[in-house]
Amino acid sequence: MKYISTRGKAPALSFGDVLLAGLANDGGLYVPETLPSYSKEEIASWANLSYQDLAFKVMWPFVESDIPADAFKIMINDAYAGFNHEAVAPMVQVGNNEWILELFRGPTLAFKDFALQLLGRLMDYVLAERKEKLVILGATSGDTGSAAIEGCRHSEYLDIFILHPFERVSEVQRRQMTTVIDDNVFNIAVKGNFDDCQGMVKSSFADQSFLKGAKLGAVNSINWARIMAQIVYYFSSALSVGAPHRKVSFSVPTGNFGDIFAGYLAKQMGLPIDQLVVATNQNDILHRVIAENDMSRQSLNVTLSPSMDIMVSSNFERLLFDAHGRDGAAIDDLMARFNQGDVSLNDEAWSFVKANFDSYKVDDKKTCEVIADVFAQTQYLLDPHTAIGLEAARQCWKDLAVPMITLATAHPVKFPEAVEKAACESPSLPEHLKDLFERKESYAVLENNLADVQAFVTEKI
Ligand SMILES: *Cc1c(COP(=O)(O)O)cnc(C)c1O
Repeated sequence: MKYISTRGKAPALSFGDVLLAGLANDGGLYVPETLPSYSKEEIASWANLSYQDLAFKVMWPFVESDIPADAFKIMINDAYAGFNHEAVAPMVQVGNNEWILELFRGPTLAFKDFALQLLGRLMDYVLAERKEKLVILGATSGDTGSAAIEGCRHSEYLDIFILHPFERVSEVQRRQMTTVIDDNVFNIAVKGNFDDCQGMVKSSFADQSFLKGAKLGAVNSINWARIMAQIVYYFSSALSVGAPHRKVSFSVPTGNFGDIFAGYLAKQMGLPIDQLVVATNQNDILHRVIAENDMSRQSLNVTLSPSMDIMVSSNFERLLFDAHGRDGAAIDDLMARFNQGDVSLNDEAWSFVKANFDSYKVDDKKTCEVIADVFAQTQYLLDPHTAIGLEAARQCWKDLAVPMITLATAHPVKFPEAVEKAACESPSLPEHLKDLFERKESYAVLENNLADVQAFVTEKI
């Protein structure tokens, strides 16, 4: 399978190249040239597979040109061995026909482990084959950093540097990153905000001369391999409630549009999905574009669901590519228009988006109410992102006979502020993190200055 850029000007690449490249060199994002598609009978035949075996079935067509089957199976088994539930992605029922898909059973307690546990292993394999090394540089506002570090820490071929805004991530989130003490792991607290960190990463990718010949790799959600790994749990959860013999719907707490885009792909591949609900917090650009065709950028709100506090969703470009008949030139044009201040899609593209997605926005007050109500009724504690997903599901659900699955993207222990505001008791840390607050931390604190950060990276590699 080949991968093409959404802006049509970069060369088509193989899986291995796309994995290491991240962004295409024309500024676009890589997508598969064609998608595999499965019949109802074939999907039904997967119903009794383990999560790992299903993951192999779903992902194999995307990687087969670059990775041997046996090696891929081992990577999948290793990637999900550290999850603390036999089913890897278990389901919990919270209402009539209403399900929560627990995606927080991995080492860092957020759904990002599904992709990043596999990504680190895939990169290692391809780099070993090519006898190359890669420097991973990323910025995090919380969950991505720890999941990326956990995914890369055992690698011989990767050095990983993660920037986080000094004193602006929660203590659990910081400790999940800074207590990983390995030779190839470097945490940097930048005396600035998340956008400053992100800006430094972007500048470093644009001009890599400071690295003296080493190459940078990206683990953020524009990396195709992350999307790929997220397709699997749409299949596993749907199968467990009766698909493909009945339809299912999903509600997804959304930030960069990576997670829900994987659901859209599952539908293209043959999974009978009725509704895909985009759930947003106050940072509602996706809700506005779906409901009103308004893509204007507004200033960032700090909310109780910080992993969804984004102004522009980078993966939305992958959907826009399909919405414009997969015409790279049209996307190139559209992005130029957005930069000049245009904020809407043409009618055809907007209709395409509306035909595929529903959306709803939930504010902090409602988020806390949902956490409290669900806890009172079922004793089940939601994290704030998941609470937004569940509320959006309830508001958008069209056919109550179709099971509605809300993706639980994080464990509530990661977001104690929201849980306490909802007047619920904070849950305790799972077994493998019980001593998190006693562990030794290691991180550098640097000024908000690109030259300082780059000098630090150069010195350490
Ligand atoms: C990253 C994240 C999201 C948003 O996922 P996207 O793929 O960026 O849409 C939602 N919830 C949690 C807890 C996250 O960590």
